Amino acid sequence: MGYFEGKTALVTGAAGGIGGAIVRRLRSEGVRVAVADRDVTGIDAETHLPGDLLEASYADELPRAAFDSLGSLDIVINNAGVITRGSVTNTTDADWALSLGVNVEAPFRVCRAAIPIMADRGGGAIVNVSSCWGVRPGPNHAVYCMTKAAIASLTQCMGMDHAHQNIRINAVCPNEVNTPMLRMGFAKRGFNPDTAVTELGKTVPLGRIAEPEDIADVIVFLASDAARYMCGSLVEVNGGKPVG
Ligand code: NAD
Repeated sequence: MGYFEGKTALVTGAAGGIGGAIVRRLRSEGVRVAVADRDVTGIDAETHLPGDLLEASYADELPRAAFDSLGSLDIVINNAGVITRGSVTNTTDADWALSLGVNVEAPFRVCRAAIPIMADRGGGAIVNVSSCWGVRPGPNHAVYCMTKAAIASLTQCMGMDHAHQNIRINAVCPNEVNTPMLRMGFAKRGFNPDTAVTELGKTVPLGRIAEPEDIADVIVFLASDAARYMCGSLVEVNGGKPVG
């Protein structure tokens, strides 16, 4: 529909399940994409920016690096994330630092750096990847849920605060998605991932859990001018299963 003519994007977590689908979808629309992840080897993209989002200077500098390489920066997708299991009483200091660092501090740093770059050029779109558990928490993932609620809240705040600069900031809140994050969680608990994904699908009104492309399509919509009146929205993508 021509929404993406000449556009450029930065995608974090580009080597992951949802991230890979976002990159493929954006590029199929003609967007030139800078990919960020710890290892971006073998990802088809215009610019490769490997690094660890737990390093503050890397997160702070990513938007400028993408801008310098691509010549502009219209879209930022903060998709990288980690999941830690457990209640508060079995959360270690390391779990806490990892979850807060990747899921909250890194997107905060990336947004803080990207917004002035976008504002200087008349606007842009940022999409953060929260979770349905950021809206309604589920059991036994206390810190993960908290981080996803934090990025959801930050998205609502930023959506209000930067709309006047023509920067639209929204979040998607997926329920279960068939990615390495989910599958590794099953494997760690001793389940066969394929069987577990099929069984979990039976609990979803649409009859299956999401594939990465189901989430990427909504993210690409939010990044496009088709979503031109959306700012600070939390969009649940859940196949009809709203509760964690
Ligand atoms: P994934 O594990 O396939 O991908 C996550 C990516 O983030 C990985 O490529 C990983 O290398 C990257 N990453 C993690 N820590 C990093 C760091 N310190 N520095 C740089 N990159 C780092 O998982 P996914 O399912 O594709 O998750 C993508 C997003 O979707 C996450 O924010 C996740 O919380 C969210 N989400 C996933 C599900 C699900 O069921 N899979 C549900 C709701 C929300």
